[in-house]
Amino acid sequence: MFSQRVENIAASATLAIDAKAKKLKKEGKDVVIFGAGEPDFNTPENIKQAAINAIKDNFTRYTPVGGILELRKAIAGKFKRENGIAYDPAETLVSCGGKHTLYNIAMALLDEGDEVILPVPYWVSYMEMIKLAGAQPVFCETDDKFKLDADMIKKKLTSKTKLVILNTPSNPSGAVVESSEIKKIGQLSIDNNFYSVSDEVYEHFIYGDKKHLSIASLNDEIKNLTITVNSVSKTYAMTGWRIGYCGASKEIINAMENLQSHSTSNPSSIAQMAALEALNGPQDSVKEMLMAFDERRRFIHKRLNEIDCISCVEPEGAFYAFPDISRTGLSSMELASKLLDEALVAVVPGTAFGSDNHIRLSYATSMHEIERGLNRIEKWLKQRNTRIHQQ
Ligand code: PMP
Repeated sequence: MFSQRVENIAASATLAIDAKAKKLKKEGKDVVIFGAGEPDFNTPENIKQAAINAIKDNFTRYTPVGGILELRKAIAGKFKRENGIAYDPAETLVSCGGKHTLYNIAMALLDEGDEVILPVPYWVSYMEMIKLAGAQPVFCETDDKFKLDADMIKKKLTSKTKLVILNTPSNPSGAVVESSEIKKIGQLSIDNNFYSVSDEVYEHFIYGDKKHLSIASLNDEIKNLTITVNSVSKTYAMTGWRIGYCGASKEIINAMENLQSHSTSNPSSIAQMAALEALNGPQDSVKEMLMAFDERRRFIHKRLNEIDCISCVEPEGAFYAFPDISRTGLSSMELASKLLDEALVAVVPGTAFGSDNHIRLSYATSMHEIERGLNRIEKWLKQRNTRIHQQ
């Protein structure tokens, strides 16, 4: 009945857990939810006001497919200012969220038989998008701290390699790709003529002394082989507004814009005005979120390592912890299901990200909730260990 394309999409284990957690919560159960992939902060007032003004000014009609010129200029300005990349406004495109940007890229660049190198652990949608486009994901291991190095990619290159996905900082691991490796990957892309999709949606959430480096900023040759993806979703707590964007060569942008013209057309005119204010307005809210996330990050990392059978690498960025749970003897799905049913704690099983030895906890939730949730996990594991020893 359904297309082969849709039949091939894996049902999301993540969504199943999430739906169950929300159902339990609705039934009045006191569930602690570590599943959220979004900041727990509200969209800043100045951004909300820009959208209200847009409605009042009747800025409510179709706009150019790829976004209004003012916003594309603001995006070009942001890439120059924050990332050191000189994109012309015509080399940018606004879409309905970073996810839509990535989907456009997959549909515009990939053909049947193409290979896409995907570092593990990966954000689940990359994999499904690659498959939807008929291409082949080629998994690339990272080290025990989830660090990617250029040699690992080099080993996976074939004549069919069309693109490599870079996501730094990473969802789910929080790892930041080192600048030295980014430079080597840039050189590899020139030598082997593959594209890099650089997903930088978490670039503003990097902790300690780590620095973000955009691969497209290295030189023009690398820039021409890169699509730099970003979004206002995480940076400005605007996940519901659905504005994502990218910078790339004019040819790639044109192809993506054509595609977009026959699917969504322009992203919401009102959300575009909000995004314009987000990029051009005051940036204090970003620093406030960063500081709050950093405090929670240090706490969750320390606390997870105090729990028996769990060990956690310190996340360098984003707002997720990705602890190793292999010593529990349970698969990530079994552990996530049991934690939800028996301890009322919702976490995301690592299988969704290509690693069954891990679970993902988002720390984009209050310290109080983090504390309560981790206490419950600790207690549940203790009781389980006692039960096992008694058997
Ligand atoms: N890339 C990564 C790595 C993400 O985690 C997400 C959101 N979960 C996105 C892109 C897309 O976000 P949005 O569509 O809200 O811009």
